[in-house]
Amino acid sequence: MLRDSEWDDRLLRGFRFACRPGCGLCCYTQPRLDGEELARLRAEREIPVRRDDGLVLHVESFPDGGSCRLLSENRCSVHSLRPLVCSSFPVEPYAGLHGWQPSVVLSCPGLSLDPLDDWARGVVPTSSPSGLDPELRSARRRTARTPAAAVPSSVARARRRWEARLRRRGLWTDRESLRAAVAPRLYRSDAENLPGEEPPDPREGRELLPIFFDGRPGPVAIGAHPLGWSLDELAPRGGVARALGVFSVPTEVPTLDDDAARRLAGYLVYWLHRDQLIDGILSVASEDGEPTPLEERLDSELAFIRATVLSRALVRAHLGGEYGRILGREAIDRGIGASDADLLDRDSPGSIP
Ligand code: SF4
Ligand code: SF4
Repeated sequence: MLRDSEWDDRLLRGFRFACRPGCGLCCYTQPRLDGEELARLRAEREIPVRRDDGLVLHVESFPDGGSCRLLSENRCSVHSLRPLVCSSFPVEPYAGLHGWQPSVVLSCPGLSLDPLDDWARGVVPTSSPSGLDPELRSARRRTARTPAAAVPSSVARARRRWEARLRRRGLWTDRESLRAAVAPRLYRSDAENLPGEEPPDPREGRELLPIFFDGRPGPVAIGAHPLGWSLDELAPRGGVARALGVFSVPTEVPTLDDDAARRLAGYLVYWLHRDQLIDGILSVASEDGEPTPLEERLDSELAFIRATVLSRALVRAHLGGEYGRILGREAIDRGIGASDADLLDRDSPGSIP
């Protein structure tokens, strides 16, 4: 287990948080829980759970994109006993290079995204996060229960292996050099290939779809449709509460005003400093046989993140009735809100239960 002094809080600084009444976005999931949490909950009431591969426990959700079964009228019915993975949200700890590296899930509409403007200027915000004390306490408890010799040390071993393999193939570049090489190119506007990727088909299960909060009683899901992308408000018990329309697939790069361009650049710099991104690049590059320079891989990963945010910002602008080609800061914030949880959800060696 890493010590408290190894809690790297740079990615939390400056963020202000206040949970949005009536949101419930983070409860459209199957939260993980451990045996102790389950026992505490079961002492109070029957809890429907399922096991992943017979090992990892989850509270069940309603089928077809519905909420966790413990959500009732948009409130957690076991609030004081909810699993740590819920009470720590939107803080997400990661076993980073220099210790635990918590960041925030920027899809949470309770967070102000203003610190991204500092990141855009290459400045790490200095002020402490505000409104996040209970979530940080839960996040620390999550990391504290991670068994010694589990995630952090296994990630450190994996990192040494990747480095050795990449060195043998003449591909190794240390992280700071990689970041320094890629950072000036973040502002390039010619690298997008919208839409980044197609969302899944809702017929494969709405629980697979990207979702975002849009001020409605249920989250809005983005799905593939023969005529474009469908946007549907999900019902807590699963399925569609209201079809919001089918919108053309965003393929044209929009123009951003200065505030929007700064916000998007800040988001990409923030990603560049999440160890999770570079870990993903290094782990994939060390496995496959393609001798692609790491800088190129990182460029293309950041271009994918940028394209995902822009395409989801555009489709959300269309949902709001805006069809102009110039996007402002609020539109980019909405694009980040519809993307970050998804982008963070990919397999990564430092993620913890
Ligand atoms: S997503 Fe954020 S604002 Fe919404 S309920 Fe969860 S913590 Fe609150
Ligand atoms: S346990 Fe409660 S807080 Fe956690 S996802 Fe379910 S309803 Fe939401």
